[in-house]
Amino acid sequence: MAETSRYDVAIIGSGPAGYVAAIRAGQLGLKSVLIEKESKFGGTCLPVGCIPTKALLFNAEVLDYFKNARDYGIVCKDYSLDWAAVQARKNKIVSKLAKGVEFLLKKNNVETLRGTGRLAGPGRVIVTDATSDAREIEARKILLATGSEAKMLPGIEPDGKIILTNKEILELVDIPKSMTVIGAGAVGVEFASIFHRFGTKVTVLEMLTRAVPLEDEEISAELERSFRRQGIAVHTQARVRKATQSGKSACVEYSDAQGKTHKIESETLLVAVGRAPNTQGIGLEKTRVKQDRGFIQVDSNMQTDEPGIYAVGDIVAGSPQLAHVGQMEGIVAVTHVAGKPVEPINYQQIPNCTYCEPEISSVGLTEREAREVGHQVRVGKFPFAANSKAGILGAREGLVKIVSAEPYGEILGVHMIGPRVTELIAEAVLALRLEGTVDDLAHTIHPHPTLTEAVLEAAHAVHGMQIHA
Ligand code: NAD
Repeated sequence: MAETSRYDVAIIGSGPAGYVAAIRAGQLGLKSVLIEKESKFGGTCLPVGCIPTKALLFNAEVLDYFKNARDYGIVCKDYSLDWAAVQARKNKIVSKLAKGVEFLLKKNNVETLRGTGRLAGPGRVIVTDATSDAREIEARKILLATGSEAKMLPGIEPDGKIILTNKEILELVDIPKSMTVIGAGAVGVEFASIFHRFGTKVTVLEMLTRAVPLEDEEISAELERSFRRQGIAVHTQARVRKATQSGKSACVEYSDAQGKTHKIESETLLVAVGRAPNTQGIGLEKTRVKQDRGFIQVDSNMQTDEPGIYAVGDIVAGSPQLAHVGQMEGIVAVTHVAGKPVEPINYQQIPNCTYCEPEISSVGLTEREAREVGHQVRVGKFPFAANSKAGILGAREGLVKIVSAEPYGEILGVHMIGPRVTELIAEAVLALRLEGTVDDLAHTIHPHPTLTEAVLEAAHAVHGMQIHA
C-alpha cells in the first residue's frame, strides 16, 4: 500500500454534492481531496443525468419548431433528424462541462484521486483503483457523497438495448419505434417527452393515481391532458405485475384500477421507478452512522452520528434527490468543517423542476397540503393562454398557481406548468425565502412582455384582480 496522505477533508463521490463541496472547501482554505471511481467527474447529473437529458430535450424542442415551421411563416420542406449528430452534440456538452469541473477543482487546489473510496476507521479512507492498488488517506473530516442508482424491477436487468434506465437510454444507437415507460416521475415524463418528439410511440405506466404525483393535483391533470393531446399514452393506477424481455422486445404486464390485466409489447422499456442510495460497500458497518432504508441520517450541518463523518446529496435520508439540493448540502457541510457559521437548509423552500413538455416547476406547499395543515387557503391562477409572450412563443398551454394563506396573503406555494417555467420558479423561491406575501409579488413591477407576467397576474388573481383574463 502506498504511503498515507493527510487532509482536512476527504470527499467520496464527485457528483454535484461532492464536487461543489470540494470547490468550496478549497475556497475556504481546507486541504481537500476528491475521490471518484468513474472516469468522468460529475456523478449522475453531469454524465448520465440532468445535463445530457436536457441537451436531448433541447434537440426535441428545436425539432418541434421545424415540425411547426408553417405556424411561424417558415416553409421548411426538407428536414430530418441526424441521430448520430444529436448524440455527438450531447456528448460534447457533457465533455466540456466535465472538463470545466476538472479545471475548477484544480483552480481551487483540490487534489483528486481515481478509485473507490471506503471508510477504514476514524479519519481514514482506503481508495482502491482499477488495478486494485490501494492507498490510504487520512482526513480530519470525511464527506460521503456517493449518490444513487436507478432502482430496477424484479426479474429484469438493464441490457443497453431493450431494458433501459436513465443511463443506457442515453446511448441508444437508433431511435426506437416504441417505448414503455414505467414510472411517471421526473425521469419517466422527461424521457417520454424526448422520445415522443423524436418519433417513438410512448406509453407511460404509473402505479399511483396521477402522473408527477408529488406535484399539485391540478398540475398533474394539466400534464396528463397535454400528454394525451400530444399522443403520449398515460395509464395511471397501472400496477406493473411482470416485465420480461424476449429476443427483440420487452413485454410488460400490468393491472388497471379494476384489477384487469393488460399486456404491452414494445421495442424498449425504460424503468424509471426511483433511485436507491449508494451506501453499500463504503464501510458504514463499523461506524455509528444511522441509516433509514439505506439512506443516511444527518443533522442540520449534514453530520452523521459518527463524529467527523458527513453525508450529502442523494444518500441523505429525507432529502429530495436533486442536484441543486446536493450542491447546497455540500456547501453547508464544508462550511461546518471549516468552523464557519452555517445557515441550515430550509427543505420547505426547494424548487422542483421537471423538464418535460410542457415544463413543470414548483416550490412550497400544494393546495391540498396547505389545507391539510390547517391554513385558510386562497388560490390565484393565471393561464399562459392569456400571457402575451406565451402567445408570441406559440406556447399557450399551462398556468401559474399561487397558494397563499389568509389573512396576510403569505405565499405558501407556487406551482407552474407551461413555457420556460423552470426558469420562472426562482422568483417564487426567493419570495418564499423572504416570507413574501401575494401583495409583495403583485406590487413588484414585472417586465412586459415576458412570461414572468403570468406570476404577477397569478398574484393579482388571488384577489380576483387579474388584469388580462
Ligand atoms: P420518482 O420517485 O420521482 O418517480 C418514480 C415514479 O414511479 C413514481 O411516480 C412511482 O409511483 C412510480 N412507480 C414506482 N414503481 C412503479 C411500478 N412498479 N409501476 C408503475 N409505476 C411505478 O423517480 P424517478 O423519476 O426515477 O427519479 C429519481 C429521482 O431523481 C427523483 O428524486 C427525481 O426527483 C430525481 N430526478 C429529478 C429530475 C429533475 O429535477 N428534473 C430529473 C430526473 C430525476
